[in-house]
Amino acid sequence: MKRNRRVKILATLGPASSDEAMIRKLHEAGADVFRINMSHTDHDTMRELVARIRRVEAAVDRPIGILADLQGPKLRVGKFAEGKVDLQPGDIITLDDNPEPGDRNRVYLPHPEILQTVQPGHRLLIDDGKLQLRALKSTGTAIRCEVVAGTRISDKKGVSLPDTLLTSGALTDKDRRDLDAVLEAEVDWLALSFIQRPEDLAEARKLSRGRAGLLSKIEKPQAVERLDEIIELSDAIMVARGDLGVEMPLEQVPGIQKRITRAARRAGKPVVVATQMLESMITAPVPTRAEVSDVSIAVFEGADAVMLSAESAAGAYPIEAVQTMDRIAVEVEKDPLYPGIIFAQRPAAEATGADAVSLAARQIAETLQVAAIVTYTSTGTTGLRTARERPQIPILALSPIEATARRLSLVWGLHCVVTEDAFDMEDMINRACRLAVQQGYARVGERVTVTAGVPLRTPGATNMIRIAYIGSDGLSAV
Ligand code: PGA
Ligand code: MN
Repeated sequence: MKRNRRVKILATLGPASSDEAMIRKLHEAGADVFRINMSHTDHDTMRELVARIRRVEAAVDRPIGILADLQGPKLRVGKFAEGKVDLQPGDIITLDDNPEPGDRNRVYLPHPEILQTVQPGHRLLIDDGKLQLRALKSTGTAIRCEVVAGTRISDKKGVSLPDTLLTSGALTDKDRRDLDAVLEAEVDWLALSFIQRPEDLAEARKLSRGRAGLLSKIEKPQAVERLDEIIELSDAIMVARGDLGVEMPLEQVPGIQKRITRAARRAGKPVVVATQMLESMITAPVPTRAEVSDVSIAVFEGADAVMLSAESAAGAYPIEAVQTMDRIAVEVEKDPLYPGIIFAQRPAAEATGADAVSLAARQIAETLQVAAIVTYTSTGTTGLRTARERPQIPILALSPIEATARRLSLVWGLHCVVTEDAFDMEDMINRACRLAVQQGYARVGERVTVTAGVPLRTPGATNMIRIAYIGSDGLSAV
Protein backbone atom coordinates (compact mmCIF):
# COMPACT_ATOMS: atom_id res chain seq x y z
CA MET A 1 0.00 0.00 0.00
CA LYS A 2 1.50 3.24 -1.21
CA ARG A 3 0.44 6.63 0.18
CA ASN A 4 0.16 9.64 -2.12
CA ARG A 5 1.59 12.04 0.43
CA ARG A 6 4.74 12.55 2.47
CA VAL A 7 3.24 13.81 5.76
CA LYS A 8 1.99 11.04 8.08
CA ILE A 9 -1.34 10.70 9.86
CA LEU A 10 -1.53 9.73 13.52
CA ALA A 11 -4.99 8.59 14.69
CA THR A 12 -5.96 8.14 18.34
CA LEU A 13 -7.91 4.97 19.15
CA GLY A 14 -10.83 4.96 21.56
CA PRO A 15 -14.41 3.79 21.96
CA ALA A 16 -15.28 4.84 18.39
CA SER A 17 -12.35 2.96 16.90
CA SER A 18 -11.32 -0.07 18.87
CA ASP A 19 -12.44 -3.14 16.94
CA GLU A 20 -10.13 -4.75 14.46
CA ALA A 21 -12.23 -4.06 11.36
CA MET A 22 -12.36 -0.38 12.27
CA ILE A 23 -8.60 -0.19 12.90
CA ARG A 24 -8.06 -1.75 9.50
CA LYS A 25 -10.41 0.73 7.83
CA LEU A 26 -8.62 3.63 9.53
CA HIS A 27 -5.28 2.32 8.29
CA GLU A 28 -6.63 1.91 4.78
CA ALA A 29 -8.10 5.42 4.91
CA GLY A 30 -4.64 6.77 5.73
CA ALA A 31 -3.67 6.31 9.41
CA ASP A 32 0.05 5.45 9.53
CA VAL A 33 0.47 5.42 13.32
CA PHE A 34 -2.07 4.76 16.07
CA ARG A 35 -2.07 6.50 19.45
CA ILE A 36 -3.28 4.77 22.59
CA ASN A 37 -4.08 7.37 25.23
CA MET A 38 -3.15 5.91 28.62
CA SER A 39 -5.24 8.59 30.39
CA HIS A 40 -8.31 6.68 29.25
CA THR A 41 -7.12 3.10 28.56
CA ASP A 42 -6.60 0.29 31.09
CA HIS A 43 -3.84 -2.28 30.59
CA ASP A 44 -6.07 -5.09 29.29
CA THR A 45 -7.66 -2.78 26.71
CA MET A 46 -4.22 -1.45 25.71
CA ARG A 47 -2.89 -4.99 25.16
CA GLU A 48 -5.97 -5.91 23.15
CA LEU A 49 -5.57 -2.78 20.97
CA VAL A 50 -1.88 -3.56 20.35
CA ALA A 51 -2.79 -7.13 19.36
CA ARG A 52 -5.46 -5.89 16.95
CA ILE A 53 -3.10 -3.35 15.35
CA ARG A 54 -0.47 -6.07 14.93
CA ARG A 55 -3.03 -8.35 13.23
CA VAL A 56 -3.98 -5.52 10.84
CA GLU A 57 -0.27 -4.90 10.23
CA ALA A 58 0.22 -8.55 9.26
CA ALA A 59 -2.90 -8.56 7.07
CA VAL A 60 -1.96 -5.43 5.11
CA ASP A 61 1.77 -6.25 5.16
CA ARG A 62 2.86 -2.73 6.10
CA PRO A 63 4.72 -1.70 9.27
CA ILE A 64 2.41 0.32 11.57
CA GLY A 65 3.64 2.49 14.42
CA ILE A 66 2.02 2.48 17.85
CA LEU A 67 2.39 5.43 20.20
CA ALA A 68 1.44 5.02 23.86
CA ASP A 69 0.70 8.39 25.41
CA LEU A 70 1.41 8.55 29.16
CA GLN A 71 -0.84 10.84 31.15
CA GLY A 72 1.94 12.60 33.05
CA PRO A 73 1.39 14.86 36.07
CA LYS A 74 -2.08 16.04 35.14
CA LEU A 75 -3.30 17.81 38.30
CA ARG A 76 -6.89 17.61 39.46
CA VAL A 77 -8.92 19.00 42.35
CA GLY A 78 -10.86 16.59 44.61
CA LYS A 79 -14.62 16.26 44.85
CA PHE A 80 -17.37 18.54 46.12
CA ALA A 81 -20.13 17.58 48.55
CA GLU A 82 -22.63 18.64 45.89
CA GLY A 83 -20.59 17.71 42.83
CA LYS A 84 -19.99 21.34 41.91
CA VAL A 85 -20.11 24.89 43.22
CA ASP A 86 -20.94 28.18 41.54
CA LEU A 87 -18.56 31.09 42.04
CA GLN A 88 -18.19 34.66 40.88
CA PRO A 89 -15.21 36.83 40.06
CA GLY A 90 -13.95 38.29 43.34
CA ASP A 91 -14.95 35.22 45.40
CA ILE A 92 -12.35 33.50 47.55
CA ILE A 93 -11.73 29.74 47.45
CA THR A 94 -8.97 27.78 49.17
CA LEU A 95 -7.24 24.67 47.79
CA ASP A 96 -5.90 22.56 50.67
CA ASP A 97 -4.67 19.18 51.91
CA ASN A 98 -7.97 18.13 53.51
CA PRO A 99 -9.48 15.15 51.66
CA GLU A 100 -13.02 15.96 52.87
CA PRO A 101 -15.49 16.89 50.06
CA GLY A 102 -15.31 20.56 49.08
CA ASP A 103 -17.80 23.44 49.33
CA ARG A 104 -17.85 27.04 48.11
CA ASN A 105 -15.01 28.01 50.49
CA ARG A 106 -12.53 25.19 49.96
CA VAL A 107 -11.63 22.06 48.00
CA TYR A 108 -9.04 19.28 48.29
CA LEU A 109 -5.95 19.46 46.07
CA PRO A 110 -4.40 15.98 46.33
CA HIS A 111 -0.88 17.15 45.33
CA PRO A 112 1.11 18.24 48.44
CA GLU A 113 4.09 19.34 46.32
CA ILE A 114 1.83 21.83 44.50
CA LEU A 115 0.55 23.27 47.77
CA GLN A 116 4.19 23.91 48.66
CA THR A 117 5.27 25.37 45.32
CA VAL A 118 2.57 27.83 44.23
CA GLN A 119 3.46 31.43 45.11
CA PRO A 120 1.18 34.45 45.57
CA GLY A 121 0.39 35.94 42.16
CA HIS A 122 0.55 32.60 40.30
CA ARG A 123 -2.45 31.67 38.14
CA LEU A 124 -4.39 28.43 38.65
CA LEU A 125 -6.45 27.53 35.60
CA ILE A 126 -9.25 25.07 36.28
CA ASP A 127 -11.01 22.98 33.61
CA ASP A 128 -8.94 24.09 30.61
CA GLY A 129 -9.01 27.67 31.82
CA LYS A 130 -12.79 28.00 32.15
CA LEU A 131 -12.26 29.08 35.76
CA GLN A 132 -9.25 31.30 36.49
CA LEU A 133 -7.90 31.69 40.00
CA ARG A 134 -5.03 33.79 41.32
CA ALA A 135 -3.11 32.74 44.42
CA LEU A 136 -3.27 35.35 47.19
CA LYS A 137 -1.54 33.50 49.99
CA SER A 138 0.13 30.13 50.42
CA THR A 139 0.88 28.40 53.73
CA GLY A 140 2.47 25.24 52.33
CA THR A 141 -0.67 23.21 53.01
CA ALA A 142 -3.31 25.57 51.62
CA ILE A 143 -3.50 28.13 48.83
CA ARG A 144 -6.00 30.96 49.25
CA CYS A 145 -7.20 32.08 45.81
CA GLU A 146 -9.31 34.77 44.29
CA VAL A 147 -11.63 34.01 41.37
CA VAL A 148 -10.51 36.14 38.40
CA ALA A 149 -12.90 34.82 35.75
CA GLY A 150 -15.40 32.02 35.33
CA THR A 151 -18.27 30.77 37.46
CA ARG A 152 -18.13 27.01 37.95
CA ILE A 153 -15.90 24.32 39.48
CA SER A 154 -16.87 20.68 39.77
CA ASP A 155 -15.48 17.26 40.76
CA LYS A 156 -11.99 16.24 39.59
CA LYS A 157 -11.47 19.14 37.21
CA GLY A 158 -7.94 19.62 35.83
CA VAL A 159 -5.65 22.32 37.21
CA SER A 160 -3.01 24.04 35.04
CA LEU A 161 -0.26 26.13 36.58
CA PRO A 162 1.33 28.22 33.83
CA ASP A 163 3.39 30.35 36.23
CA THR A 164 4.71 27.62 38.50
CA LEU A 165 7.79 25.49 37.80
CA LEU A 166 6.72 22.18 39.33
CA THR A 167 9.33 20.33 41.31
CA SER A 168 7.81 16.92 40.63
CA GLY A 169 9.29 14.86 37.79
CA ALA A 170 7.46 14.06 34.60
CA LEU A 171 6.47 10.50 35.56
CA THR A 172 3.82 9.69 38.16
CA ASP A 173 3.39 6.25 39.76
CA LYS A 174 0.59 5.58 37.29
CA ASP A 175 2.93 6.52 34.42
CA ARG A 176 5.57 4.09 35.71
CA ARG A 177 3.05 1.23 35.79
CA ASP A 178 1.75 2.21 32.33
CA LEU A 179 5.28 2.50 30.98
CA ASP A 180 6.13 -1.06 32.07
CA ALA A 181 2.94 -2.41 30.55
CA VAL A 182 3.23 -0.64 27.19
CA LEU A 183 6.91 -1.56 26.77
CA GLU A 184 6.00 -5.15 27.58
CA ALA A 185 3.35 -4.92 24.83
CA GLU A 186 6.09 -3.66 22.45
CA VAL A 187 4.79 -0.26 21.43
CA ASP A 188 7.10 1.82 19.25
CA TRP A 189 6.79 5.27 20.77
CA LEU A 190 6.23 6.57 24.29
CA ALA A 191 4.74 10.05 24.55
CA LEU A 192 5.63 11.97 27.72
CA SER A 193 3.12 14.60 28.84
CA PHE A 194 3.84 17.94 30.56
CA ILE A 195 7.61 17.79 30.08
CA GLN A 196 9.06 20.96 31.63
CA ARG A 197 12.82 20.58 31.37
CA PRO A 198 15.40 18.31 29.75
CA GLU A 199 15.98 16.38 33.00
CA ASP A 200 12.35 15.22 32.84
CA LEU A 201 13.33 12.73 30.13
CA ALA A 202 16.00 10.99 32.17
CA GLU A 203 13.84 8.51 34.05
CA ALA A 204 11.83 7.38 31.01
CA ARG A 205 15.08 7.08 29.06
CA LYS A 206 16.53 4.85 31.75
CA LEU A 207 13.42 2.69 32.16
CA SER A 208 12.73 2.26 28.44
CA ARG A 209 16.30 1.17 27.55
CA GLY A 210 15.83 1.88 23.87
CA ARG A 211 12.75 -0.32 23.53
CA ALA A 212 10.63 2.62 22.35
CA GLY A 213 11.35 6.09 21.00
CA LEU A 214 10.65 8.95 23.42
CA LEU A 215 8.31 11.67 22.18
CA SER A 216 8.16 14.84 24.29
CA LYS A 217 4.84 16.66 24.28
CA ILE A 218 5.45 20.40 24.35
CA GLU A 219 2.48 21.73 26.33
CA LYS A 220 4.04 23.87 29.08
CA PRO A 221 5.57 27.34 28.76
CA GLN A 222 8.59 26.03 30.70
CA ALA A 223 9.18 23.47 27.92
CA VAL A 224 8.89 26.12 25.21
CA GLU A 225 11.60 28.10 27.00
CA ARG A 226 14.03 25.16 26.88
CA LEU A 227 12.90 23.79 23.55
CA ASP A 228 16.24 23.09 21.91
CA GLU A 229 17.63 21.21 24.91
CA ILE A 230 14.46 19.12 25.15
CA ILE A 231 14.54 18.33 21.43
CA GLU A 232 18.14 17.24 21.73
CA LEU A 233 17.28 14.63 24.37
CA SER A 234 14.06 13.47 22.68
CA ASP A 235 13.49 11.16 19.74
CA ALA A 236 10.39 13.06 18.59
CA ILE A 237 8.29 16.07 19.56
CA MET A 238 4.60 16.90 19.69
CA VAL A 239 3.10 20.37 19.46
CA ALA A 240 0.40 19.54 22.05
CA ARG A 241 -1.83 22.50 21.33
CA GLY A 242 -4.59 21.45 23.74
CA ASP A 243 -2.76 22.07 26.98
CA LEU A 244 -0.38 24.56 25.37
CA GLY A 245 -3.42 26.72 24.58
CA VAL A 246 -4.50 26.60 28.21
CA GLU A 247 -1.10 27.42 29.65
CA MET A 248 -0.14 30.11 27.14
CA PRO A 249 -2.16 32.88 25.50
CA LEU A 250 -4.03 31.15 22.64
CA GLU A 251 -2.87 33.73 20.13
CA GLN A 252 0.75 32.72 20.78
CA VAL A 253 0.16 29.06 19.90
CA PRO A 254 0.43 29.43 16.08
CA GLY A 255 3.84 31.12 16.32
CA ILE A 256 5.03 28.56 18.85
CA GLN A 257 3.82 25.76 16.55
CA LYS A 258 6.01 27.18 13.77
CA ARG A 259 8.99 27.56 16.10
CA ILE A 260 8.70 23.99 17.40
CA THR A 261 8.20 22.55 13.91
CA ARG A 262 11.24 24.36 12.58
CA ALA A 263 13.45 23.51 15.55
CA ALA A 264 12.52 19.81 15.32
CA ARG A 265 13.11 19.76 11.56
CA ARG A 266 16.50 21.39 12.09
CA ALA A 267 17.39 18.66 14.59
CA GLY A 268 16.04 15.92 12.31
CA LYS A 269 13.57 14.73 14.97
CA PRO A 270 10.02 13.88 13.88
CA VAL A 271 7.44 16.51 14.90
CA VAL A 272 3.70 15.89 15.29
CA VAL A 273 1.11 18.69 15.24
CA ALA A 274 -1.79 17.73 17.49
CA THR A 275 -5.20 18.64 18.87
CA GLN A 276 -8.41 20.08 17.46
CA MET A 277 -7.16 19.73 13.88
CA LEU A 278 -10.60 18.62 12.67
CA GLU A 279 -12.48 19.13 15.93
CA SER A 280 -15.88 19.79 14.33
CA MET A 281 -15.72 16.34 12.71
CA ILE A 282 -16.40 14.81 16.13
CA THR A 283 -20.04 15.51 15.31
CA ALA A 284 -20.14 16.45 11.61
CA PRO A 285 -19.06 14.59 8.46
CA VAL A 286 -17.36 17.68 7.01
CA PRO A 287 -14.81 19.98 8.67
CA THR A 288 -14.89 23.76 8.86
CA ARG A 289 -12.91 25.78 6.33
CA ALA A 290 -10.73 27.02 9.20
CA GLU A 291 -9.85 23.44 10.19
CA VAL A 292 -8.88 22.56 6.63
CA SER A 293 -6.64 25.60 6.63
CA ASP A 294 -5.13 24.60 9.98
CA VAL A 295 -4.18 21.12 8.73
CA SER A 296 -2.74 22.67 5.58
CA ILE A 297 -0.48 24.98 7.60
CA ALA A 298 1.12 22.02 9.40
CA VAL A 299 1.65 20.26 6.05
CA PHE A 300 3.10 23.37 4.39
CA GLU A 301 5.50 23.78 7.34
CA GLY A 302 6.85 20.28 6.72
CA ALA A 303 5.65 18.66 9.96
CA ASP A 304 6.23 14.91 10.01
CA ALA A 305 2.71 14.05 11.12
CA VAL A 306 -0.70 15.51 11.85
CA MET A 307 -2.81 13.98 14.60
CA LEU A 308 -6.45 13.21 15.28
CA SER A 309 -7.59 12.95 18.91
CA ALA A 310 -11.29 12.73 19.76
CA GLU A 311 -12.11 12.93 16.04
CA SER A 312 -10.95 9.33 15.61
CA ALA A 313 -11.20 8.12 19.22
CA ALA A 314 -14.69 9.16 20.19
CA GLY A 315 -16.29 10.99 17.28
CA ALA A 316 -19.12 9.96 15.00
CA TYR A 317 -16.95 10.09 11.83
CA PRO A 318 -13.51 8.55 12.51
CA ILE A 319 -12.96 7.24 8.99
CA GLU A 320 -14.14 10.44 7.35
CA ALA A 321 -11.75 12.39 9.61
CA VAL A 322 -8.76 10.32 8.45
CA GLN A 323 -9.89 10.57 4.81
CA THR A 324 -10.27 14.31 5.16
CA MET A 325 -6.75 14.69 6.55
CA ASP A 326 -5.43 12.49 3.78
CA ARG A 327 -7.15 14.53 1.08
CA ILE A 328 -5.93 17.84 2.51
CA ALA A 329 -2.36 16.55 2.72
CA VAL A 330 -2.37 15.16 -0.83
CA GLU A 331 -3.73 18.41 -2.22
CA VAL A 332 -1.33 20.67 -0.28
CA GLU A 333 1.65 18.61 -1.38
CA LYS A 334 0.54 19.04 -5.02
CA ASP A 335 0.18 22.80 -4.62
CA PRO A 336 2.66 24.72 -6.77
CA LEU A 337 3.61 26.83 -3.73
CA TYR A 338 4.40 23.80 -1.55
CA PRO A 339 7.98 23.06 -2.65
CA GLY A 340 9.07 26.66 -2.22
CA ILE A 341 7.56 26.92 1.25
CA ILE A 342 8.72 23.61 2.64
CA PHE A 343 12.19 23.63 1.11
CA ALA A 344 12.90 27.17 2.28
CA GLN A 345 13.32 25.68 5.76
CA ARG A 346 15.71 22.93 4.73
CA PRO A 347 18.54 22.82 7.28
CA ALA A 348 22.19 22.51 6.31
CA ALA A 349 23.78 19.07 6.50
CA GLU A 350 25.90 18.40 9.59
CA ALA A 351 29.41 17.05 9.32
CA THR A 352 28.59 13.32 9.50
CA GLY A 353 28.69 10.52 6.93
CA ALA A 354 24.93 10.00 7.19
CA ASP A 355 24.22 13.69 6.48
CA ALA A 356 26.75 14.02 3.68
CA VAL A 357 25.37 10.91 1.98
CA SER A 358 21.73 11.96 2.52
CA LEU A 359 22.39 15.42 1.06
CA ALA A 360 24.23 13.97 -1.91
CA ALA A 361 21.53 11.33 -2.46
CA ARG A 362 18.89 14.05 -2.59
CA GLN A 363 20.91 16.16 -5.02
CA ILE A 364 21.63 13.20 -7.30
CA ALA A 365 18.02 12.05 -7.15
CA GLU A 366 16.66 15.50 -7.94
CA THR A 367 19.23 16.22 -10.65
CA LEU A 368 18.58 12.94 -12.45
CA GLN A 369 14.89 12.87 -11.49
CA VAL A 370 15.24 9.22 -10.46
CA ALA A 371 12.13 7.31 -9.38
CA ALA A 372 13.11 6.84 -5.72
CA ILE A 373 15.80 7.20 -3.09
CA VAL A 374 16.31 3.80 -1.47
CA THR A 375 18.07 3.93 1.86
CA TYR A 376 19.25 1.05 4.02
CA THR A 377 18.82 1.93 7.68
CA SER A 378 19.14 -0.50 10.52
CA THR A 379 19.03 1.81 13.54
CA GLY A 380 16.82 4.34 11.69
CA THR A 381 19.38 7.16 11.80
CA THR A 382 19.99 7.29 8.05
CA GLY A 383 16.23 7.12 7.44
CA LEU A 384 15.79 10.17 9.68
CA ARG A 385 18.64 12.09 8.08
CA THR A 386 17.32 11.33 4.59
CA ALA A 387 13.87 12.60 5.60
CA ARG A 388 15.50 15.69 7.13
CA GLU A 389 16.58 16.64 3.60
CA ARG A 390 12.87 16.69 2.61
CA PRO A 391 13.73 15.45 -0.91
CA GLN A 392 11.26 15.94 -3.75
CA ILE A 393 11.81 12.28 -4.70
CA PRO A 394 10.03 9.49 -2.73
CA ILE A 395 12.10 7.65 -0.10
CA LEU A 396 12.05 3.90 0.54
CA ALA A 397 13.60 3.07 3.91
CA LEU A 398 14.69 -0.56 4.09
CA SER A 399 15.48 -2.07 7.45
CA PRO A 400 16.18 -5.59 8.66
CA ILE A 401 14.74 -4.57 12.03
CA GLU A 402 10.96 -4.55 12.28
CA ALA A 403 11.00 -2.17 15.27
CA THR A 404 12.96 0.38 13.20
CA ALA A 405 10.47 0.21 10.32
CA ARG A 406 7.55 0.63 12.73
CA ARG A 407 9.17 3.58 14.50
CA LEU A 408 10.05 5.30 11.21
CA SER A 409 6.43 5.06 10.06
CA LEU A 410 5.94 8.37 11.93
CA VAL A 411 8.56 10.14 9.81
CA TRP A 412 7.93 12.49 6.86
CA GLY A 413 8.24 10.82 3.48
CA LEU A 414 9.54 7.42 4.59
CA HIS A 415 7.90 4.39 3.05
CA CYS A 416 9.34 1.68 5.29
CA VAL A 417 9.89 -1.93 4.29
CA VAL A 418 11.29 -4.73 6.43
CA THR A 419 13.82 -6.78 4.50
CA GLU A 420 16.71 -8.92 5.66
CA ASP A 421 20.25 -7.55 5.43
CA ALA A 422 21.77 -7.84 1.97
CA PHE A 423 24.49 -10.51 1.82
CA ASP A 424 26.70 -8.69 -0.65
CA MET A 425 26.89 -5.50 -2.64
CA GLU A 426 25.18 -6.92 -5.72
CA ASP A 427 22.33 -8.30 -3.63
CA MET A 428 21.96 -4.92 -1.95
CA ILE A 429 21.51 -3.05 -5.23
CA ASN A 430 19.28 -5.73 -6.75
CA ARG A 431 17.14 -5.85 -3.66
CA ALA A 432 16.74 -2.06 -3.71
CA CYS A 433 15.63 -2.18 -7.37
CA ARG A 434 13.30 -5.11 -6.84
CA LEU A 435 11.61 -3.56 -3.80
CA ALA A 436 11.26 -0.17 -5.49
CA VAL A 437 9.36 -1.89 -8.32
CA GLN A 438 7.41 -4.21 -6.04
CA GLN A 439 6.28 -1.35 -3.77
CA GLY A 440 5.09 0.70 -6.73
CA TYR A 441 7.81 3.37 -6.59
CA ALA A 442 9.70 2.58 -9.81
CA ARG A 443 9.29 0.85 -13.14
CA VAL A 444 11.63 -1.06 -15.40
CA GLY A 445 13.85 1.38 -17.29
CA GLU A 446 13.89 3.93 -14.47
CA ARG A 447 16.71 4.72 -12.08
CA VAL A 448 16.94 4.77 -8.28
CA THR A 449 19.54 6.19 -5.93
CA VAL A 450 20.68 3.73 -3.26
CA THR A 451 22.45 4.66 -0.02
CA ALA A 452 23.96 2.16 2.40
CA GLY A 453 26.89 1.43 4.65
CA VAL A 454 29.85 -0.67 3.58
CA PRO A 455 30.96 -3.05 5.04
CA LEU A 456 27.42 -4.42 5.19
CA ARG A 457 25.75 -5.13 8.53
CA THR A 458 27.67 -2.38 10.29
CA PRO A 459 25.04 -0.10 11.81
CA GLY A 460 25.82 3.59 11.78
CA ALA A 461 28.26 3.50 8.87
CA THR A 462 26.31 4.97 5.93
CA ASN A 463 29.01 5.91 3.45
CA MET A 464 27.92 4.83 -0.03
CA ILE A 465 25.69 6.05 -2.86
CA ARG A 466 24.90 4.18 -6.06
CA ILE A 467 22.79 5.16 -9.03
CA ALA A 468 21.11 1.98 -10.24
CA TYR A 469 19.23 1.42 -13.47
CA ILE A 470 16.38 -1.08 -13.30
CA GLY A 471 16.74 -3.68 -16.04
CA SER A 472 13.97 -5.69 -17.63
CA ASP A 473 14.21 -8.41 -14.95
CA GLY A 474 13.54 -5.80 -12.26
CA LEU A 475 17.12 -6.05 -11.06
CA SER A 476 19.94 -3.61 -11.53
CA ALA A 477 21.29 -3.63 -15.07
CA VAL A 478 24.52 -1.80 -14.19
P1 PGA B 1 -3.60 15.27 25.41
O1 PGA B 1 -2.33 15.91 24.72
O2 PGA B 1 -4.61 15.02 24.35
O3 PGA B 1 -3.06 14.03 26.02
O4 PGA B 1 -3.97 16.30 26.43
C1 PGA B 1 -2.40 16.69 23.57
C2 PGA B 1 -2.58 18.16 23.88
O5 PGA B 1 -2.54 18.60 25.03
O6 PGA B 1 -2.73 18.89 22.88
MN1 MN C 1 -2.11 17.48 26.76
